[in-house]
This record gives sequence, C-alpha cells and structure tokens, in this order.
Amino acid sequence: MQVITAISEMQQWSQQQRRMGKTIGVVPTMGYLHDGHCSLIERAATECDAVVTTIFVNPLQFGQGEDFERYPRDMERDTTIARAAGSSVVFAPTTAEMYPSGFATTIDVGPIAERFEGAFRPGHFRGVATVVAKLFNLTQPHVAYFGQKDYQQCLVISQMVRDLNMDITLRILPTVRDQDGLAMSSRNVYLSAEQRRTASLLYRALQAGIDAIARGERRREHINKRMQEILDQIPDARIDYAAAATAERLEEPDEFPPGASVVLLLAVRIGSTRLIDNMLTTVPYD
Ligand code: AMP
Repeated sequence: MQVITAISEMQQWSQQQRRMGKTIGVVPTMGYLHDGHCSLIERAATECDAVVTTIFVNPLQFGQGEDFERYPRDMERDTTIARAAGSSVVFAPTTAEMYPSGFATTIDVGPIAERFEGAFRPGHFRGVATVVAKLFNLTQPHVAYFGQKDYQQCLVISQMVRDLNMDITLRILPTVRDQDGLAMSSRNVYLSAEQRRTASLLYRALQAGIDAIARGERRREHINKRMQEILDQIPDARIDYAAAATAERLEEPDEFPPGASVVLLLAVRIGSTRLIDNMLTTVPYD
C-alpha cells in the first residue's frame, strides 16, 4: 500500500490506473479509523481494482468553536488499519495543499443542506461538498463509498453528484455499531466511561421511534416524543434534534402516509461531545 500526500502524485496515480483500465473506489474519511470505515474499505476492495482511502480532517467543514483542533489524529495507526482492510493507497494531503492561499470556490447544494445538521452547523455541508468534490477530482473514482451513519451527508453528496453530472456511482453502506448499539464514531473517544455507558440511549431512542412507527404511529410529533423521552434519561445531554423526516428530502409533514420512507435523525451533545445517528424505516399499511 502506498501513502501519498502530494496532490500531483495522487492525480498521476489515478490517471495511470484509469489508463490501465482499472476501476477505482474511493473512501473519503477524516481518519482515526474504526470498523465503520473498514466496512467501507473492505466493500470497495471487493468491488474495485484499486481502493483509495483518503484521510483529511477538513477545516472547511468545522465551524467556529467546534472540535477541529482536538479531532483525534493518528496517521501511523490509520495506515496500518487502511492497509489491512484492503486499501491500495492512503491519500493524506496537507491543509496547505488542499486550501492554498487564494482558494475561493465552494459548492452549495441547496435546501437539503440547510435542514437538521445544516441548521445547527451553518456552512458544514458547504465544506463537506467542496472537499468531496476536490477528492473526487484528485482520485477520479468510478465508485465512492459513504456510511449511512452520516445520513444527511449522503443526501448532500448524492445531490451534488446528480446536479454536477459527476460520473461516479455512490454506495451507501449500513451503520456499524458497538455491541450496545452505539454507532461507531471517531468522536466516541471523547466520552468518559459514564458518558459512553449512557450514549447507548441514542440507539434505544431510535429503536423506540422505529417501534412506534411499526405499531402504527404516523404522527410526527408523537414519534419525536418517543425518542425524546428516552434521550431525556441521559444526564448532561443537550438534544439538538430528535426528529422524524421524509427519507428523500427531509421534510417534516404532520403525518407520514402508509408506505412512506421515514428517517429518524438524532443529534445529541453529551457533555462537550456531539453525536449523530439515524435509522430508516417504512410506514406500514394497516
Ligand atoms: P468520518 O471519518 O467520520 O468523516 O467518516 C468517513 C466515512 O465513514 C463517512 O462516509 C461516514 O459516514 C462513514 N462512517 C463513519 N462512521 C461509520 C459507522 N459507524 N458505520 C459505517 N460508516 C461509518
């Protein structure tokens, strides 16, 4: 496995792979890799001839006062994990090369980026879309792999790929969870032992929402309340949102009709750690 840091070298490598007729899969990450990331890399390795895992903590997607500085980083550990999972290349560019002075172009995907995460983290998805577009240009993938864990991010990237006619197939893979249901996240290392214990209530809240819908609840406020009641049991928690929305456009009707695809979205701060999670379901017919 190669480790590439220079943009020019990454582009040359991608061009060469394409000239040889190889399919390229890309897995964009911010590093501090865990089994969730590995599931994406492993799938890419089974579907593509060459896999690029990108590792870049993207300053453009962090707001003022967020955790850009303290975001966990460990390149040596990451390269070992990325290699074992089947990466051909780790691409880890420097911030200076990604955003040289004078850098000015950003990508705005419209309304889908303004709800939920976008409302609580203004500019976040502009940063995400911009860096992912750059990473696509640098790695020239045929297929790009993302986790459902960041559900709204998947919608944002899909919108961008569609609107800008990028010739890239997106694969969205299921959320990998710890045994107690907590979605794996690089940010979980911020949690104290006690916080980590109660963090599994996010999973339980989502399940309660899913159960309510399965039992026939279609009223959005009632579904949200079921989730809220469980999250309220977490000491020291601040709930940014616990919301049911339409899966495709994240709209919030008063009631979801039978057959509707619904996503349950959570963003919760436990102490200073902000966690997000989600689950998808379909409203049953009577
Ligand atoms: P991140 O490094 O957190 O930016 O995540 C990089 C990619 O891995 C994104 O597509 C995430 O959605 C995905 N990912 C993060 N956590 C998980 C998880 N627990 N299960 C599956 N995919 C994940």
